[in-house]
Amino acid sequence: MNIAGNLLIGQSVRRGTNGVSYAIDAASGERLEPGFGGATLEDVDAACALAWAAFDIFRETTLEARADFLETIAANILAAGDALIERCVAESGLPRARIEGERARTVGQLRMFAGVVRAGDFLEARIDPAQPERKPAPRVDLRLRHIGLGPIAVFGASNFPLAFSVAGGDTASALAAGCPVIVKAHAAHPGTSELVGMAVQKAVKDCEMPEGTFSLLFGSGREIGQGLVRDPRIKAVGFTGSRHAGTELMAVAAARPEPVPVYAEMSSINPVLLFPHALEQRGEAIAQAFVQSLTLGAGQFCTNPGLILAVEDPALDRFVAAASEALRRAPAATMLTPGIHRAFETAVSKFAEHPQVQTVARAQPATGANKGQGALFVTSAAAFREQTELQEEIFGAASLIVRCPDLHTMRELIESLEGQLTAALQIDEADYAAARSFLPSLERRVGRVLVNGFGTGVEVAHAMVHGGPYPSTADGRSTSVGSLAIRRFLRPVSYQDMPEALLPESLKTGNPWRINRLVDGKIALAQRA
Ligand code: NAP
Repeated sequence: MNIAGNLLIGQSVRRGTNGVSYAIDAASGERLEPGFGGATLEDVDAACALAWAAFDIFRETTLEARADFLETIAANILAAGDALIERCVAESGLPRARIEGERARTVGQLRMFAGVVRAGDFLEARIDPAQPERKPAPRVDLRLRHIGLGPIAVFGASNFPLAFSVAGGDTASALAAGCPVIVKAHAAHPGTSELVGMAVQKAVKDCEMPEGTFSLLFGSGREIGQGLVRDPRIKAVGFTGSRHAGTELMAVAAARPEPVPVYAEMSSINPVLLFPHALEQRGEAIAQAFVQSLTLGAGQFCTNPGLILAVEDPALDRFVAAASEALRRAPAATMLTPGIHRAFETAVSKFAEHPQVQTVARAQPATGANKGQGALFVTSAAAFREQTELQEEIFGAASLIVRCPDLHTMRELIESLEGQLTAALQIDEADYAAARSFLPSLERRVGRVLVNGFGTGVEVAHAMVHGGPYPSTADGRSTSVGSLAIRRFLRPVSYQDMPEALLPESLKTGNPWRINRLVDGKIALAQRA
């Protein structure tokens, strides 16, 4: 499979006619061939028409067929081989080992969702059998299952060119739910997107899924992205990126005659709370681990530890000294795009020039294209509370340490924070009582509370929440990582007194799909062969 710069609309491969754009080699700043033809609004319309035509067929495929389709996508991605890895490394500037790991995660996610589909629990099938003899009035027969929402628009993320892009978590969970997907590729990695897009397109053919199950478009977010979100046949949106773009898409989706949900994952500074005993006992070790997490992937993680809260103490001074020393040794690292690098530099300069912020360390000086030089800042609790701009995310390896006079102030600052993806507690047993008093505030503010670790390295699992209150995400009731992500793209439908012959398989009395169901309020486990 060769990168040709084409749009993939259903099974067709077309040259986009709305301008030409090129990928940039992140490490050298050089232009990469070929040019990618941009989509027009007519292409958006064609992809939406195909997706809409596919929806009723795709969502009624058997669990086995859909699981097989997801596994075939995974196999086709692996079959793209080294060409995919090499292109992805060039476009993202991320190390090869990271990209290989990300491919494994992408394939693993697809396989996990295949397992979720096969098990059938996501349908949450429920049956309340009729009670014709019930007095004073008979009870009707009620049955419920979940169906896919409809075609989903997915925006590929710049910082996960595989795991949160064309066949990443949003796409895998939407397809698992029975929803066709139209991806708006991220301009940072169009070649990677096309290669993965071809793997999905081939899987559609290999598995005889309806043509419109998948399309891939290149083009500008404002024109093509918003065009997709406005299209009445799109029923939900998956997005990872900036707060600005995410909130604009939320507004576009809300202004439609039929508003639709936008699952946007946007901005988070992921507070790390250093409790007194842990800080005293192992502050230096925590500092080393913190800098490792901070600089991982040039800091370009939504779960990057951007804020440290701790109580003023000589142990905090030792932590700051150890973290500063570790950061000064860290090399500058290639960032994903020139734009993201510029945004990082601007935000770091803003903090550095802030009268109430002290720069305590920078990583090694940057040489070469798009190299981000990590930064560590310190401020007071009073300044952090009053200057709301100090709460803004700096996307990259930058973090702010806030010196608090006491634990009470630390908790007050937590209350003043916007919604976050994660909060990490560094605690020893002697800190448990203090930590317990923080939990109610943290549970209200964040999607994942973790202990003696850092938020980077999000496990793809059944109990994972990668979400949180606004603005970390658009809808804090959801997660974009882990098997629960499928819920974003499902909707319950109830069938009342429906004749057996008309019921979907998942709700038929004999349970032909052998799935777990809730019958008369009690779990009825499937009798599997
Ligand atoms: P972005 O600018 O939000 O772009 C993400 C996607 O949205 C791209 O496909 C982009 O399309 C599209 N888009 C941008 N503005 C839009 C608009 N007004 N309407 C519709 N679509 C729009 O994010 P990025 O390019 O990945 O990085 C820029 C900044 O986003 C970073 O510096 C960082 O601050 C933040 N970011 C945060 C996270 C996180 O996980 N928290 C992840 C990635 C990035 P085009 O650009 O192709 O037009």
